[in-house]
Amino acid sequence: MSLHDLAVIGAGPAGLAASVAAAQAGLSVVLLDAADRPGGQYYRHAASENPNDLLRLRHLVDYRPGHRVWTVEPGFTIHALVGERESKPVETEAKALVIAAGAHDRSLPFPGWDLPGVMTAGGAQALLKGNRVNLGRRVVVAGTGPFLLPVATGLAAAGVDVAAVYEANRPVGLVAARSGALLGSAGKVAEAARYGAALVRHRIPYRWGHAVIAAHGSDSVEAVSVARLDRDWYPVPGSERIVECDALAVGYGFTPQLELPLQLGCATRIDSDGSQVVAVDAAQRTSVPGVFAAGETTGVAGVQAARAEGELAGLAAAAMYPAGAPSAAGKIVGVERRAQGPRILPDNLHDRRVGGVRGLLARRGRGRRFAAMLHEVFAVREGWASWVRDDTLVCRCEEVPYRDVVAAVELGAGDLRSVKLFSRVGMGWCQGRVCGYATACLTAGLAGGSPDTASLGARAIAQPVRLGTLAGNDEKENT
Ligand SMILES: Cc1cc2nc3c(=O)[nH]c(=O)nc-3n(C[C@H](O)[C@H](O)[C@H](O)COP(=O)(O)OP(=O)(O)OC[C@H]3O[C@@H](n4cnc5c(N)ncnc54)[C@H](O)[C@@H]3O)c2cc1C
Repeated sequence: MSLHDLAVIGAGPAGLAASVAAAQAGLSVVLLDAADRPGGQYYRHAASENPNDLLRLRHLVDYRPGHRVWTVEPGFTIHALVGERESKPVETEAKALVIAAGAHDRSLPFPGWDLPGVMTAGGAQALLKGNRVNLGRRVVVAGTGPFLLPVATGLAAAGVDVAAVYEANRPVGLVAARSGALLGSAGKVAEAARYGAALVRHRIPYRWGHAVIAAHGSDSVEAVSVARLDRDWYPVPGSERIVECDALAVGYGFTPQLELPLQLGCATRIDSDGSQVVAVDAAQRTSVPGVFAAGETTGVAGVQAARAEGELAGLAAAAMYPAGAPSAAGKIVGVERRAQGPRILPDNLHDRRVGGVRGLLARRGRGRRFAAMLHEVFAVREGWASWVRDDTLVCRCEEVPYRDVVAAVELGAGDLRSVKLFSRVGMGWCQGRVCGYATACLTAGLAGGSPDTASLGARAIAQPVRLGTLAGNDEKENT
């Protein structure tokens, strides 16, 4: 098995930037990604939007698409599944690791959310971008966050009748009150204005302070109930109305994907949006020597911050684990704390690239500040739990209704892990990725305390694996 200087997991904006930066600094880099094409969520199948990293990628990096990493052993041996139905196990070794596994949609349960035709906002966009498949003929887009805008305008541009966008928060006044965070983010403001213009052009109503609180239909969604919300997201009595549609795209932000860093024992923190994220220092180092993290894994902050973090991680890895050095190489060469953060390049690169590093640190800082503002403006507020009824499924994989969560708490379960053991919530195929956040909030609402959003991500197996693979019966390939 060949030993690479650096393995990068995830070929989204962060992983691409990390791979290219590290390879250009002289490391042998292997880049593994579960998807068939590079680009992650943002550049999904739109390679022309990010030509530089993608063009450089194939010349510089050992890029391996279709590799679903299910576990990483300290040291680091990376185990992935490839091939038809992802059935063939492969192993790869590297001296250092960058985890850039991104995030997934954050879902909240409501009556009818399990009907065919109800989909996450990210799922709707992926269908459109990746497969050019429209979710329906008349679609409602709902939830919270700026991501609803590209989803709605993308659907409209593809010829879908978008009935309305229902934003549960009231962003305009809130954003204006935090205008300081907009300084240095002119690009984001311009992007928002472009989406606003597209909504007008496509005649899509944008209703803030409203949410879809139920979906209705026999075999698939035929209509939704929309209610006006108070500031805490409790429906205003008498405001409910029915909107006909044949599909609903709904999203409440994103949840970082933490299975691999948690496996390795990386320390985490709770971000301003309530998500558990990997804790990193200024050089994107995690608490585990040799493991760096970048992009949404360290907090949801958008594509620019993800790229800056990826590049910083790649440069830091090259500085700490130079080509040919043993994996315990240890310390950053030429670290110097300054107001804008540490210099993280080796001395021989430092003079030429320090301006670039400053720029990266500044871009990351701007992205994080802007994200913190968005997290506050587009927070998930407690009143959503009042939309849930006794028979509303909280966990769709194991078909666990809300009343079973209530029963678990009444039996003494006071945290998410105990509720899982009592009720089977989070024990199905998705392993709590879909229902974990919501169940943590519901449990806290019933039992008291703050939501324990952290406890479902830690597991020895990050992705579904066949028993034959686990037992070592499947033919293994070392690469
Ligand atoms: C569904 C969705 C849609 C989004 N759409 C937009 C948008 O339209 N506009 C926008 O500005 N922002 C969008 N975002 C936010 C966007 O994710 C970020 O701004 C940016 O893409 C983050 O880059 P990243 O590299 O951190 O993660 P990602 O782009 O998510 O890339 C992570 C990569 O890691 C890979 N991966 C994850 N786990 C494994 C594993 N175990 N093994 C192998 N590979 C793995 C994935 O296949 C993926 O390619 C979206 C986010 C999500 C979740």
